[in-house]
Amino acid sequence: MFRALAKASPALGPLAAGWAPTMASHQLHVGPPEALLKPLSVPSRLLLGPGPSNLAPRVREASGLPLLGHMHKETFQVMDEIKQGIQYAFQTRNPLTLAVSGSGHYALETALFNLLEPGDSFLVGANGIWGLRAADIGKRIGARVYPMTKEPGGHYTLQEVEEGLAQHKPVLLFLTHGESSTGVLQPLDGYGELCHRFQCLLLVDAVASLGGAPIHMDQQGIDVLYSGSQKVLNSPPGTSLISFSSRAERKVCARRTKPFSFSMDVRLLANLWACDRKPRMYHHTTPVVGLYSLRESLALLAEQGLESSWQRHREASAYLHSRLQGLGLQLFVRDPAARLPTITAVAVPAGYDWRDMVSYIMDHFGIEIAGGLGPSVGKVLRIGLLGCNASRENVDRVAEALKEALQHCPRNKL
Ligand SMILES: *Cc1c(COP(=O)(O)O)cnc(C)c1O
Repeated sequence: MFRALAKASPALGPLAAGWAPTMASHQLHVGPPEALLKPLSVPSRLLLGPGPSNLAPRVREASGLPLLGHMHKETFQVMDEIKQGIQYAFQTRNPLTLAVSGSGHYALETALFNLLEPGDSFLVGANGIWGLRAADIGKRIGARVYPMTKEPGGHYTLQEVEEGLAQHKPVLLFLTHGESSTGVLQPLDGYGELCHRFQCLLLVDAVASLGGAPIHMDQQGIDVLYSGSQKVLNSPPGTSLISFSSRAERKVCARRTKPFSFSMDVRLLANLWACDRKPRMYHHTTPVVGLYSLRESLALLAEQGLESSWQRHREASAYLHSRLQGLGLQLFVRDPAARLPTITAVAVPAGYDWRDMVSYIMDHFGIEIAGGLGPSVGKVLRIGLLGCNASRENVDRVAEALKEALQHCPRNKL
């Protein structure tokens, strides 16, 4: 077999001789890939899409620290500090607050796997991709899913939600605070109270908005809130943040069935994160290095203060909006109060292909911006100003890049 392979790939030459074992009962039939024998090469880019964002320098340094074991007391200390950081960022005193070992989707699944049982009624605000994802996961669980479908660019009023609650009597409502596929900011005041009047829990996705737009979990009566590490927090992707209210905890405890997922069983995670006052037991190996980064991200947010972070995002996005309008571009969300300060959706200008513009800006400026996603594909370009990337300087860079792209990208005469 080895001889056949060596003949088939003469380019391997002496390398091939190196990896073919002489003693083993089986000879290797897959050689070491040539690509892996070259050094890793990664370009430097300004990430102004909807995430990930660039790492804050302090966060990047954290990822070079020595690895500890996932059950070492120093790692537990880091986890305890993360928990406090999440409580601050979410403005909650919920004891059941922790980081999930996975990106934002894993936090969404953690919420749904634990809150929903087969047959439960689940009401979903579906005004962009995230509601569609939540509905998909709800169906996989066997819930009765009722999407309140809305054109991309819109958000839900209290009245619309009340109608949905009255009609479907759901146990859970899903809303997206920062709808990053459309650039919409969903108001949240009053929604928790409304849900509770209907014996419904409120689940909110704040992956794209946490740290960039005000959110007050306890005061807004949000029962489960989650966010991600790689947007405003400027951490690497791979961890996410989640918190459960006491109401949500009661719903989890009252389950008739175990959650389908072992990895995301919140009662097991609660023990790992010392939320249940019992000795911590091994559940899975946490991404220890990712936790260092997340700890540093939350430390930066605590040092800077939530209010000043919100203000920085508000100012940077207002400046971006004025630069975009100065280029003759149209913001996708008409109502200024409903524009998300972290991610801006701008209508694809008439006659242009969004792919040409995105590629032009990547190829000529090393800047990432994005097209639409799900229901907004082909309709918008999306520009993210997330965390340390929310600066006037970056707005100027992306506005210049867009201006050139408008001059050089092909334009169909309509
Ligand atoms: C990015 C994003 C997610 C998904 O997060 P992943 O980290 O890619 O799993 C979920 N919700 C919103 C609003 C997002 O912007």
